[in-house]
Amino acid sequence: MAQSEFSIIKQYFENSTIKRSDVELGIGDDCALLKCPEHHVIAVSIDTLVEGVHFFSDVSPETLGHKSLAVSLSDLSAMGAKPAWITLALTLPEHNADWLNAFSVGLSKLAKQYQVQLVGGDTTRGPLTISIQAHGLVEPRSALTRKGAQVGEHIFVTGTLGDAGAGLQYKLGHLHEFGLSNSDVEFFISKLEMPSPQVEIGQALRGIASSAIDISDGLLADLGHILEQSKVGAKISTDLIPLSESIKILPKELAIEFALTAGDDYELCFTLSDEALRILDPDIRSRITKIGVITEQSGIELLNNGKEIMVTPKAGYDHFTN
Ligand code: ADP
Ligand code: MG
Repeated sequence: MAQSEFSIIKQYFENSTIKRSDVELGIGDDCALLKCPEHHVIAVSIDTLVEGVHFFSDVSPETLGHKSLAVSLSDLSAMGAKPAWITLALTLPEHNADWLNAFSVGLSKLAKQYQVQLVGGDTTRGPLTISIQAHGLVEPRSALTRKGAQVGEHIFVTGTLGDAGAGLQYKLGHLHEFGLSNSDVEFFISKLEMPSPQVEIGQALRGIASSAIDISDGLLADLGHILEQSKVGAKISTDLIPLSESIKILPKELAIEFALTAGDDYELCFTLSDEALRILDPDIRSRITKIGVITEQSGIELLNNGKEIMVTPKAGYDHFTN
């Protein structure tokens, strides 16, 4: 007999994550009851992954469990919020024990890494769709928003950019002519399918960065959101953009194009004043790269070897216009 919704929840989700002391009541009732520490607010964000839109049908369920949580934790990181609780809305075409088991393993491994508890959700039947709502804790005055960038401040990013985009293009059948090794391809695909949310750096930037965003739609599009909300512009040097050794194997223009416009990197982009840069933890400083400065003139000025190459930022992926 097919497993019921309730036994699926019990078997794969009820005890899949750690128990936090701030969870008054978790899975099993109509709502979860959660305690928010004094002087904190709850940062809430939800992301949905739809089969065929956000991921290929051949992606392993363990990878999907990881990625669906990683993208939500990335949003919390971009606000400087400490991950605490998640809810999971799962729409499944069928009951498949192996799939559920592997998905739950991927999700719970990453949840454990950040001491996150799954406190509720919804399980329905239909085309494979995964929504995770993440809840984080932050003191309101130190939360990072897209709004505070000021003229003269430095623009930084974490990690390397464009690798996930290269992974996507490879999976779409492109890039085969560039002599990439198996390990380069594996690296790109792992960046695409197993992104690491920048939780530690997000926490370290609390009360220090003047603005922040996570790069889910490409650097130009996401930095564009900071500029719009902060009512400033930016000058970016393409020579400063951090690139992985693997992406450097591609022609330079293509590598830069991925770094500027491809989505799914889940790195952070943020702004720091001179003073913020002085007080930033040296270990964090060694893990971030300056790519440009905030300017008064709106838009993004892109410089390549000091020469202007492009001024109009490309929009990120839009589900309703693409
Ligand atoms: P209701 O009918 O009140 O919406 P459900 O029958 O959908 O409740 O769910 C029963 C309990 O199981 C609830 O506490 C709900 O939060 C939890 N739950 C349902 N689906 C999931 C899931 N995929 N992951 C975690 N918890 C879930
Ligand atoms: Mg329900």
